[in-house]
Amino acid sequence: MKFSRLVLVFEEMEKKSSRLAITHDVSEVFKTCSPKEAKRVTRLMEGIIAPPHEGIELGMADKLAMRAIEIVSGKSGKEVAATYRKKGDLGDAAEELLAQRRQHALAKSELSVEKVYDNFYKIAASGGGGSQDHKVKLLAELLSNAEPNEAKIIIRFVTGSLRLGAGESTIIDALSESRSGSKELSDEIERAFNLTSDLGAVAELLFEKGMQAVSAIKPKPFNPIKPALAERLESAQAIIEKIGGGGGSEGGAAGGVRGCSVEGKFDGFRLAVHKKGSRVEFYSRRQERVTHMFPDLAEAFKKQVAADEIICEGEAIGFNDATGTFLPFQDTMQRKRKHGVAEKAEEIPLKLVLFELLYFDGVDYTQKPYRERREKLLKLVKNAGGKGNRIDVAPAVIAKTAAQLQRFFDESVSTGLEGIVAKDLEAEYTAGARKFAWIKLKKSYSEKLADTVDVVVIGYYYGKGKRTEFGLGGLLTAVYDDKHQRFRSVAKIGTGLSEAQMTEFASTLGKIAVKKKPDDVDSVMEPDVWVKPRVVIEVNADEITRSPIHVAAAEKGKGGKGVDETNIGAGGGEGEAEGLALRFPRLVRLRDDKAAEQATTERELIKLFELQRKSRGQSSE
Ligand code: ATP
Repeated sequence: MKFSRLVLVFEEMEKKSSRLAITHDVSEVFKTCSPKEAKRVTRLMEGIIAPPHEGIELGMADKLAMRAIEIVSGKSGKEVAATYRKKGDLGDAAEELLAQRRQHALAKSELSVEKVYDNFYKIAASGGGGSQDHKVKLLAELLSNAEPNEAKIIIRFVTGSLRLGAGESTIIDALSESRSGSKELSDEIERAFNLTSDLGAVAELLFEKGMQAVSAIKPKPFNPIKPALAERLESAQAIIEKIGGGGGSEGGAAGGVRGCSVEGKFDGFRLAVHKKGSRVEFYSRRQERVTHMFPDLAEAFKKQVAADEIICEGEAIGFNDATGTFLPFQDTMQRKRKHGVAEKAEEIPLKLVLFELLYFDGVDYTQKPYRERREKLLKLVKNAGGKGNRIDVAPAVIAKTAAQLQRFFDESVSTGLEGIVAKDLEAEYTAGARKFAWIKLKKSYSEKLADTVDVVVIGYYYGKGKRTEFGLGGLLTAVYDDKHQRFRSVAKIGTGLSEAQMTEFASTLGKIAVKKKPDDVDSVMEPDVWVKPRVVIEVNADEITRSPIHVAAAEKGKGGKGVDETNIGAGGGEGEAEGLALRFPRLVRLRDDKAAEQATTERELIKLFELQRKSRGQSSE
């Protein structure tokens, strides 16, 4: 397939055409794809070249990309830099500079999707000495055969600034449409994606073997599964009413209701464990392979878990053997490192508290009810609950009344846990989705704001006085609008960081600084420096308020679902689209286990706003 065909669609996507139109365009592209092309097209549309667990990322520095533009355009470094400054976007600069390069036009061969993808792959995979020159050469080869508009897309892709506006759900609908003419296959394709975390491979299978093969996909060791996510409710009572099968208070109708399971909420790293034979791998919440950080847990897992092939999930958390207590998150965090792993493992031993079984010896447990998954998990872990264990199973009770649930919550919090996760006994494992199969209740819910919020940094301010030295005075942050794939401003916050952390953070943000507001960011606030929306931080705040300056959850014109449409409140003045903002936000920690698209969504923010109103209503009664 010609790359130019794909570029036309990319350009449409960047223009933010309607989702329906984009889905249709993409499905037309898929219709002409071979299985291999379907895989490559899918990956390029996702903005990746390999699934996260392969650890192959493109992320080429602007400087290297500029060198390739210099070579191909015949311009000097200064001229390239000046055009970049003028345009504010390196892709636009490449387009302009290559359009001036008429004399080379004859030597060109038309780019194919295959050639572009393969060179991208080689750029990402090349490492070690001399690799920078090699990367520049591979990029220059593509640019020398590219039309100006193709060069624009190529440069945006390799520098990570291409924003296609087509999320994975659009690609899934397009795949379905290309095969069936409608969205009827979307749910099944999405299920396969959630189980494999590799949409490209699912697309290839669909085109090679058909839908039956996709529906037959089941979990496979070393293919990370997208994690199930928890919903929030405001109280024990609300949880029992939702998934406990009744609303009885203690001694009431408890006998007749089925209840729900309640587990402690451990505050460490979420880890998925995959084992086959003697190979054990750990994957993070973002499906990255992190086995090298936890050799102690891998050994313990082999000894304690009686399974040849298994996929399960849990939370790794620092543990003090002498006192039998868990360590605070800050201590556990120190285990997240590339160097000095063995020494730290001695100093801060971890316990892996398992809470889910997803696959065991050829059987897909994701589709079995929670009660069955848990029963099996308990059987597989030797000595669960025993002293000195490195691998354990999260203790759980069945709560039939709000009072029972509240009691377990209070006990959990008093032993230093974050709260509880209540689980629907009959629910399947909801891979990749935030559903009421799991409901979390945290100790912070009794505070003013029901939960911390994970926001994405979209820009920063230089700051005054001493802070100027670090180049970081404050952060402009956003929540994620997952429906339209946009980042919408929600808070400006002081960093609350130590000097050392501030210097490090400033350098992280410096690397993703951009000259103008990224296309997928909505904000009327202007920071001193815009950054690509990549870094996620967890913040606490006093409350969520309506705001005339932040645009999160604000009315977005036709078709947008603003906060006023949710009947949350009276709404702004005439023609005024009020957003939601965090009041007195404070940085809690970096969430480098989350990608920007996994930050708190606009919809969640609206829900938190509703929870806040409910809990105020209750407390004033
Ligand atoms: P949070 O910051 O509240 O952990 P999150 O967005 O990372 O939120 P959620 O799915 O909303 O994740 O909340 C569930 C999280 O709680 C899981 O990601 C997991 O890491 C953690 N957790 C701790 N203990 C348990 C448990 N017993 N069962 C399920 N999840 C648990």
